[in-house]
Amino acid sequence: MAQLSPAAARRLVAWAVGPCLPAWAVLLGLALVGRLDWTTAFVCCLLVFVLMAGAVLARLADFDRIIRYAEELLANPDAQAPLLEHSATAQRLLSSLTALRKLWADRRDEADALAKSRQDILDSLPDPFFLLDRRRRVISANAAARKLFELERPTEGGGQGFAGRDLAGVIRDPKVLEAADLALAQNRKTEAQFTLPGPVEYTFGALIVPLSATAQDGTALIVALNDFTERMKMDRMRADFVANASHELRTPLSSVLGFVETLRGPAKDDPKARDEFLDIMLKQANRMARLIDDLLSLSRIELREHTRPTEAVDIEGVLRGTSEFLDRQAKERRSSIVITATPGLPPALGDAQELSQVFHNLVTNALKYGGENSRVEVNADVSETRPAGMPGKGPCLKISVRDFGEGFAREHIPRLTERFYRVDNARSRQLGGTGLGLAIVKHITNRHRGALVIDSDIGKGATFTVYLPVAG
Ligand code: ADP
Repeated sequence: MAQLSPAAARRLVAWAVGPCLPAWAVLLGLALVGRLDWTTAFVCCLLVFVLMAGAVLARLADFDRIIRYAEELLANPDAQAPLLEHSATAQRLLSSLTALRKLWADRRDEADALAKSRQDILDSLPDPFFLLDRRRRVISANAAARKLFELERPTEGGGQGFAGRDLAGVIRDPKVLEAADLALAQNRKTEAQFTLPGPVEYTFGALIVPLSATAQDGTALIVALNDFTERMKMDRMRADFVANASHELRTPLSSVLGFVETLRGPAKDDPKARDEFLDIMLKQANRMARLIDDLLSLSRIELREHTRPTEAVDIEGVLRGTSEFLDRQAKERRSSIVITATPGLPPALGDAQELSQVFHNLVTNALKYGGENSRVEVNADVSETRPAGMPGKGPCLKISVRDFGEGFAREHIPRLTERFYRVDNARSRQLGGTGLGLAIVKHITNRHRGALVIDSDIGKGATFTVYLPVAG
């Protein structure tokens, strides 16, 4: 027999004595009235107790098993239920306990699934954000925040390595920490802007929202970050563009105004100077007109950049038209434009007018920067592969414009399509350039879901290749 603990022994005595009492009363009564001698009565009483204790002990063992099972469940929710042998009541108790355990396990699974789906929802949001408790400690962070701040991934058990850290350990900017403290203290939404230092600087806006009631997991504050970097870059570009455009226009305008003053004053009666000045004024006015035309083209293309053109354009026709239009300009430079096109070239999906502007700008540049007595080669072909950055799959049209001039160093290539970017400012102005030609080409190819690839080396000329989708 297993050793009884004092508590179990006490329970055994208490539980066994009660059921023995009626039998003991009868036996002792019989002894009192002389129908049983006292020794037999006591022996019988003892016998009754022993039999009763045996029955109680067996049932008690069942209850002990249930208690041990309940204790084990606290440490291991998957503990095995014991086998009971003697007590129907203990069996019922065990069934209720097992049902409770199942209910509890279901609830736990539900809570786990809920927590996981909440984390999945948070992770699917593209903007980084954190959930904080009332003491400004991180409770959780979504995937975007973990990636941005290089926080450890959640641990196997679903916990997060950075959880419990003060916000200051993640975002070190005092403005954000102050805003979080203020949001907690005054229970109101606050905002702050901060910059993340690094090789590429990012600027973020932090929106800090206190919850009306602290959530069960302790969440009291939401910190949502919004990446302002691109917007600020765009604002800066816009401001730079306005400044550059004004500067580009002011230069010829000042020159025209200067000559008007001279013509009204010192050169009033000098016909030779007048002719010369009028000539310069005409050139400057033409430069302004070209600049305004290019600015207008650019803004028109930008407005339509998100709607894809739908015409089927005969590229060879466009190239021949451009070449005819620029023929006089080529002859002035004693240069030639040579067009070759693969027979049976499929039409491009595009806008004929915009595509003629693309090739007009590229061939004009090739004539301008290709030097005199030279040639410009234009080749139209089908390419089986698309260059990096061109959306879609399958063959596309490849039209290259090549000159044999001075070319430029490779480091200029990434910036060449920026507005007003010039490799050589003086040369571009002297040749009548606006600094917008390639920006227009780039915007038009973007609108066509095509690509522009530039290749050059100093002294080896330049090749500008336009890739366009095939119609149909
Ligand atoms: P621009 O009106 O100044 O020619 P673009 O936007 O057409 O402006 O071209 C930007 C700059 O790219 C030019 O100023 C020039 O420095 C360089 N560039 C363009 N095309 C060529 C080329 N074919 N050969 C050499 N440099 C070129």
